[in-house]
Amino acid sequence: NSLMRSTMNVDLKNKKITVIGMGETGQGASFLANKLGASVLLSESNSTAKESFIKNAKNIGIKIENGGHTEKIYDSDLWIISPGVSDEINIVTNAKAKGIKIISEIEFASWFTDKPIIGVTGSNGKTTTVSIINEILSKSEFNPKLTGNIGYAFSRAILEDLKNCPENRIYVIELSSYQLEHIETFKPFISILLNISPDHLDRYKNMDKYLEAKMKIAMNHDSENHLLYNSDDKNITSHCKKLNTNKTTFGLMNDTQNAIKSDGSCIAIDQTKIVDIDDLTLKGHHNLSNILAAISAAKILKVSNKVIREALINFNGIEHRLEKVSIIKGVAYYNDSKATNIESVIAAIKSFNRPIILILGGQDKNTDFSTLKPFLDKKIKQVVSYGSASNKISTALRDAVALNAVFSLRDAVEECKKSAVSGDVVLLSPGCASFDQFDNFEHRGNEFKRIINEAAYA
Ligand code: ADP
Repeated sequence: NSLMRSTMNVDLKNKKITVIGMGETGQGASFLANKLGASVLLSESNSTAKESFIKNAKNIGIKIENGGHTEKIYDSDLWIISPGVSDEINIVTNAKAKGIKIISEIEFASWFTDKPIIGVTGSNGKTTTVSIINEILSKSEFNPKLTGNIGYAFSRAILEDLKNCPENRIYVIELSSYQLEHIETFKPFISILLNISPDHLDRYKNMDKYLEAKMKIAMNHDSENHLLYNSDDKNITSHCKKLNTNKTTFGLMNDTQNAIKSDGSCIAIDQTKIVDIDDLTLKGHHNLSNILAAISAAKILKVSNKVIREALINFNGIEHRLEKVSIIKGVAYYNDSKATNIESVIAAIKSFNRPIILILGGQDKNTDFSTLKPFLDKKIKQVVSYGSASNKISTALRDAVALNAVFSLRDAVEECKKSAVSGDVVLLSPGCASFDQFDNFEHRGNEFKRIINEAAYA
């Protein structure tokens, strides 16, 4: 099978492995390493891990440090660090100084499979795109497994497949820039670069460093692999030009390669129509770009147009991404809680032709909110800012738009309800992280929906 990769010949028996971070990836990596015979120490600085998990892990012989690291972490042949752990913290610099090899969980898991991988990265649209690819491939002869940053660690997927892996398995992996930081041999059969816009500048020193991390996805590519990239994105285009691999572009504006075109009414590839845009349920211009990326990948894998079309018309979108919550008294409420950077807020604004009352706020990620100004046109009736970034947002935007600053998300919804009239859209597209008042973006989105649905019955 020409899609097969070569696996590393790694024997973990009697190897000491330290896993830093007890989130999903750290848990997955520990279980996989343990299964493969390594002596595993899983160490976490916070003490948030569930008791049940700790008990299970200890039962199979994984050593646990919860709520702080001891010197034992350095008694190790290999470190696997979680995406949430920055390269610059003390323990990581110490480990490097001691000459300990440090890899990411993605790198680690990839050592134990020869099956093809589709890796998807970018600032926005990763979850949407991997989900579309998964939808298409599950209707084809492939047996896709959706994994990575979507909340199901690649290591867990590999561990499950150790028992019984179907012949035509293909891994569809969502990759954040953090997950790409410590890769060495990881080599997707298809790598997809969706877009790069300022994000996570609280962790990366500048845009170049952020772009560098994303570009790592294709660093091991050779003539067997395929790089798919968005030709509408100038930064990506200039970096990809230099790479020596098979390149295919997709894009809505200036697809230089012309392999794939969207002419406004339908999506066509090589002049062959795949699907009418009116037949798609997924909303928003930006999603056409994600769809094009997914189709491009499917075409490399020679999936038929019929299968692609059927998958696309059945795809309804994903929770917390421009999700329609309810229409109350003619006002449409949308939950876009996953919009945690400015580019995704802009994409959301562009998705509506109706007056919008926009809820922004949450925890700032060192964002320049004034970059939103050119998009606060007549369509934006009002902005309601809430949360710890509320004042910063207000200062940046209040001379450009009617703006109310409030404390909580509930207050924000109340504020919107006062001014919304039939035909308006109330859009939670916060442009910030959620951690000031919520556990994560799902929690924030669910709370928003709960508040709206309460209002519906009030
Ligand atoms: P990711 O997994 O990269 O965070 P998601 O698919 O979860 O991406 O979408 C995150 C947010 O970005 C949502 O608000 C969504 O509507 C928006 N979005 C999705 N695709 C794009 C795109 N291509 N460009 C800009 N924003 C997008």
